[in-house]
Amino acid sequence: MTDVDVIIVGAGPTGLMLAAELRLAGARPLILERRPEQGKTPKAHGLSGQILDLLRYRGLLEKVRGLVTDPVPPHRFPFGGVHVDLTRFEEPPLKALSVRQQSLERLLEEHAIELGAEVRRGHEVVGLRQDDDSVTAEVRGPEGTYEVTAPYLVGCDGGRSPVRSMAGIGFPGTTYPEVNRIGQVKIPDGLTVHDNGDIETPELGLIKAGFTRTDSGVFALGSLTPGILFIQTTEDDPGEVDDDVPMTLTELGDSIRRVLGGDVPLGDPVRLSRYQFSARQAERYREGRILLAGDAAHLLPSTGTAINVGMSDSVNLAWKLAAEIQGRAPEGLLDTYHAERHAAGARALLQSRAQVALRRGHDEAAEALRAVFQELLDDESAARRLASHVAGTDTRYPMPGSGHALAGTFVPDLALETDEGATSVAELLRPARPVLLDLAGRPELRELAEGRVDVQIAKAEDRPADALLIRPDGYVAWAGDDADGLRESLATWFA
Ligand SMILES: Cc1cc2nc3c(=O)[nH]c(=O)nc-3n(C[C@H](O)[C@H](O)[C@H](O)COP(=O)(O)OP(=O)(O)OC[C@H]3O[C@@H](n4cnc5c(N)ncnc54)[C@H](O)[C@@H]3O)c2cc1C
Repeated sequence: MTDVDVIIVGAGPTGLMLAAELRLAGARPLILERRPEQGKTPKAHGLSGQILDLLRYRGLLEKVRGLVTDPVPPHRFPFGGVHVDLTRFEEPPLKALSVRQQSLERLLEEHAIELGAEVRRGHEVVGLRQDDDSVTAEVRGPEGTYEVTAPYLVGCDGGRSPVRSMAGIGFPGTTYPEVNRIGQVKIPDGLTVHDNGDIETPELGLIKAGFTRTDSGVFALGSLTPGILFIQTTEDDPGEVDDDVPMTLTELGDSIRRVLGGDVPLGDPVRLSRYQFSARQAERYREGRILLAGDAAHLLPSTGTAINVGMSDSVNLAWKLAAEIQGRAPEGLLDTYHAERHAAGARALLQSRAQVALRRGHDEAAEALRAVFQELLDDESAARRLASHVAGTDTRYPMPGSGHALAGTFVPDLALETDEGATSVAELLRPARPVLLDLAGRPELRELAEGRVDVQIAKAEDRPADALLIRPDGYVAWAGDDADGLRESLATWFA
């Protein structure tokens, strides 16, 4: 006897996205979050990459945008110790959206609850056991300890994931010793900011926007918001650091003095935080009826991409879990979650670890590596390729039944003409249902799909194939014109 369909441990961006996607797929999730209220420590201040398209397809991007700005190709996207200018591309391979993690989480929570998900705050999962049919969580709540049972449980419980430990899944990798301190501060009196972002300080004179390297570490300077300076220090030998003690302006000032050898005037802080980077990945994303997603499954040692990878895990997992629970999953469907997302996580780690190598080191050889890399990024194809890697848009899942160039990639947002009027792929994917898109009037293909997935007849300019079979996560399962390939693909994904 189970209480809900899926227990989700953790109400960060990964858990909240998973809950919303599970509701869209008709499953009943319950989120258990140990914090009584949303965490106050500032974390991400931006979202980038593939997930922005998915959020747009689900109609969520407009809501996020209401909080901030449009996604834009960044002028100086940081990659290790160098920057990539993505403003020069007509169709930029990577866009970023400036949004605070807390605002994003509030929006996702409202969305998940609106769709019917239950979120219990102040409920900590302290024990787990599983058998062939179900998994039971022992929960410490405000009124004492109780148990909840479900067919599946997903640990979206962050980098230190108690679920991962309780499931006995290893988390090999490296935690780097450098400590990074971030401050967003108002521009104080006594500091001149030039149009190009450089600053003039009374004690140290001119400090250039971007990275300043010294023997003690790195000072980074930029501005995302008018009137606010973004400052980050990275120290190789930071001394004693206590994660539980909140960062202060004095701590940031002391760190700047150690790195630069003098004071930089700092105005009132808008945000202060400190963090260390780790490069780790769970050995497996599934142990029986327990699965992992987000930071619980991978930690990336670079900025700006972790939420993209974590929320993309959720979108990949939700429809597969729902199909399992509702008894309509083909054999092995749930195992493709590990196959697809562990590989995507490993690829994200690859570019992210390369960033560690690029930003470390202050000697002439390290400077030369950065200079050569920066030069390569002036080349359009190199910059495009790197940005696609960072965005996760170069992810290609193996798709049985189709060798078409689109198979296994995220579906492009084609403009469509139907009998009911103009629409688009984004509109079709809003309810997160699988769909066969017939672009060439092929009744025999539609017949194969009817009853298993939605079927839509449409016309598109520059049609990429006669028909596309699109999974709920937006990936093209099959594209082409042959019935045999479509039959194989349908049998793989939709029983
Ligand atoms: C300073 C800083 C800046 C960052 N900047 C960026 C950025 O610009 N872009 C970006 O993409 N990423 C950024 N990140 C990374 C990003 O914050 C994480 O990748 C993201 O929070 C991971 O989301 P998650 O939902 O997987 O896990 P988390 O956000 O860690 O959420 C896990 C949740 O699980 C809960 N939990 C843990 N154990 C239990 C339990 N036993 N029972 C119940 N609940 C439990 C926790 O309380 C927490 O709420 C930044 C991180 C930091 C620290």
